[in-house]
Amino acid sequence: MFDMVASKPLDASVVHAAVKQLANLDRDVTDAARIDLLNALEHAKSACAAAQARVAADLDRSRQEERAALGVPPERRARGIASEIALARQESPHMGGLHLGMARALVHEMPHTLTLLERGVLSEWRATLLVRETACLTREDRSTIDERLCSDAATLGKLGNRALVARVRQEAARLDVDALVRRASKAEGDRRVTSRPAPDTMAYLTALLSVKQAVAVQAALGRDADAILAQGDPRSRSQIMADLLVERATGISSADGVPVTVNLVISDRALFEQGDDAAYVHGYGPIPAGLARLWAKGAVTDDEVLAELRRVYANPSTGALTAMESKSRCFPKALARLIDTRDRTCRTPWCDAPIRHRDHITAVAEGGPTTADNGAGLCERCNYAKEGEGWNAATTTADEAELHSYEIITPTGHRFRTEAPPLPKPMPLSPFEVYSLPESILLEYVEAA
Ligand SMILES: [Zn+2]
Repeated sequence: MFDMVASKPLDASVVHAAVKQLANLDRDVTDAARIDLLNALEHAKSACAAAQARVAADLDRSRQEERAALGVPPERRARGIASEIALARQESPHMGGLHLGMARALVHEMPHTLTLLERGVLSEWRATLLVRETACLTREDRSTIDERLCSDAATLGKLGNRALVARVRQEAARLDVDALVRRASKAEGDRRVTSRPAPDTMAYLTALLSVKQAVAVQAALGRDADAILAQGDPRSRSQIMADLLVERATGISSADGVPVTVNLVISDRALFEQGDDAAYVHGYGPIPAGLARLWAKGAVTDDEVLAELRRVYANPSTGALTAMESKSRCFPKALARLIDTRDRTCRTPWCDAPIRHRDHITAVAEGGPTTADNGAGLCERCNYAKEGEGWNAATTTADEAELHSYEIITPTGHRFRTEAPPLPKPMPLSPFEVYSLPESILLEYVEAA
């Protein structure tokens, strides 16, 4: 792939030139040639992954040395490096962290695995499995496994991925029985609850728990659903279990009453059945306008659950939020909510983690005001990375009608710019019409300024 440029040192421009050649692929070839090409391209992908690991490890070393020379304390020297890698690879900061961890392991502890990756004997995924499965071992044990399994390409040979994992675990257990126990306790440290969209405006709520906890939750829900069923409840056992889960987690007595916690952004046009702009649910994503209307109407019949109706001012032509500011150094509730509504998820490119912090783009210490324009919604990880030495951020929004623009400048001077997503377009509406709406959903109501 890189033959034509073999005489030049391999930098980004050489790689770009070689990649360009792929677009001019000669496709009028025999099937045998096609099979060879598929194999060669796979080799190139593995070799690229190995090269990326080396480059990432180099960046890691150079950045940390540079910060050490500046007198930055050791615990702050690695800050933001994973995020730099993520931005360069156009991936989430979480993936950046995995790539950096993998690069460190391959370069410093598993040289044989790295060599096989470079030679195309291992794919990036198989190398990842080797790194992952040895993560709980000491450096020495890890290196021993690296040598035993990867110093000879034939050892792992044509094992399937599952067999490969089993082989690594077998070696690990032989070297260090306690490692398996450590592994289990590390896994327990990863327990968490997440949610992601499912088809038909449903969502999956996933809890990663220890076996004991998961079995206990499932058994308790099943036992109590059986008791309710025995009293003649018309719902199915699965439905009752799901409702019980919601009731117990939210602490309210009826699963139907949940809307208090649902944060919905809808345009007035869509709300009053004059438009079909999708509504947006925080933590879920867009939902059809019709469904949002149904929720709003359902809320009307429920006296117990009352929530406020909030108005968000948006520019009618662009959907950009209008300015709002505070004298305080921290973002007060209303302003924070406005930023959440505007940004929806973390503003770092390729990161769609939920917002945890509202960050001053220009720091208060440097004269940055507490305004919506100078605020950005960030996840925990991105906020932390931004604190790293050499990181900067700026807002480049020229006027209020424009969508909010946020730019990150990494220590290498690379710039990454994002725009806030446009809000549903509002329509003019009389105040009477607005305030006569009874609400039980936390409604972000988009109105023309
Ligand atoms: Zn983020």
